[in-house]
Amino acid sequence: MFPAELRDKQYVWHPFTQMQDWVSRPQKVIAAASGIKLIDTEGIEYYDGVSSLWVNLHGHRKAEIDQAIIDQLGKVAHSTLLGLANIPAAELAEQLVAIAPHGLNKVFYSDDGSTAVEVALKMAFQYWQHKGKPGKQKFIALEQAYHGDTVGTVSVGGIDLFHRVFKPLLFTPVHIPAPSCYHCKLSSDPATCGMQCAVRLEQVLAEHHQEIAGLVIEPLVQAAAGMIMSPPGYLAKVRDISRKYDILFIADEVATGFGRTGKMFACEHEAVAPDMMTLSKGITGGYMPLAATLTTDEIYNAFLGDYAAKKTFYHGHSYTGNPLACAAALANLRIFSEEKVIEGLHCRIDAAAVKLKAIARLEHVGDVRQCGLIVGIELMQDRSRKVPYRWDQAVGANVCEQARRLGLIIRPIGDVVIFMPPLASTVSEIEAMLDIIEYAIRETAETGSRECSS
Ligand code: PMP
Repeated sequence: MFPAELRDKQYVWHPFTQMQDWVSRPQKVIAAASGIKLIDTEGIEYYDGVSSLWVNLHGHRKAEIDQAIIDQLGKVAHSTLLGLANIPAAELAEQLVAIAPHGLNKVFYSDDGSTAVEVALKMAFQYWQHKGKPGKQKFIALEQAYHGDTVGTVSVGGIDLFHRVFKPLLFTPVHIPAPSCYHCKLSSDPATCGMQCAVRLEQVLAEHHQEIAGLVIEPLVQAAAGMIMSPPGYLAKVRDISRKYDILFIADEVATGFGRTGKMFACEHEAVAPDMMTLSKGITGGYMPLAATLTTDEIYNAFLGDYAAKKTFYHGHSYTGNPLACAAALANLRIFSEEKVIEGLHCRIDAAAVKLKAIARLEHVGDVRQCGLIVGIELMQDRSRKVPYRWDQAVGANVCEQARRLGLIIRPIGDVVIFMPPLASTVSEIEAMLDIIEYAIRETAETGSRECSS
């Protein structure tokens, strides 16, 4: 065992990981990376099939981002936005506003997706106090929502496995059904159901809108729920309902932002302009922790006043607006425009769609969901009757282990195999990664579960 693996097992507590299982198995330690490949301590290369944690856009060691960080290091590496401004943070805010959906004119920085959403929730709550509607205190969120791991974001979360244990600690949102056509409990036919899931929102708001501060939603794709993808028109419909009942519409684009869905932001697919939008993950091309909560002038202006008015937003973090991270984010945006990244996505998305058609025909594939370069492949013991595998069969995990042996790193969510390649992957690399996934599913799900702890 390499010393790094020993040290890891001795000292590191990994997120979302059963450590008893982790320390009992051989583990890979990543020592280097280049382009869309990760390289372990034995020098073995793997495709980065989930973009590290859905963050890697242009590849590892992208020269322009490396250089931007080095250049910024020569100026100032750390700074605070508490009482001081810094150049990259100011420039980045201007550029984010320029590319964001219409009306989002102010940028509040934080450090990761969870804090960006936490900021949005607190801001929305305080906003209504300033607007003279202090009764608007509750949030609506979707069943199976995931918005992060802080106490506020766990409160609006809806994934039982992750969130149930914390319930006594949390505030209670109003949960509405997820727009999950494959698992819909409201209707058997998405073509004729009239989007009952959105209708439910209208019913809740008609009765309770005076108590509701806002709706928080992952636009188009509920990622951590296993890539649940809403039907066309759903996003615009819930936006319209939110507007009708005067609640804030908070689009959590932490996972979908920066090209993932085929457009810069998921909201663009349905011309939706949210009241707030949260960004992180791809914001620095995966290089550094940074997040932003964008808001309208209407919200920003509600916080203006002298000290006596007590309208200040008392929230901030030590690393907020870090200049190295902002410099990386500026380089990220430059790459988007200079390399016409969005324009180049169509052929990659189409190539993935072709391969996914073949995967969808496999005997134990129940559903294949794709939105841009976000893919969820849901495995089923019996696909015709939608019977899932038993939890302890760990079929999703076994498929991913098999893929790893074949040179592709992916991570499942339950029995949904997630594929989220870097945007810079070429068509042939995407095809090669999906070939591995197809083979791994055939070898594992098709032959039944098996121990994969080699
Ligand atoms: N919102 C969404 C939609 C996410 O997918 C995630 C993370 N997967 C978060 C928020 C939380 O982001 P972070 O892990 O950076 O705190």
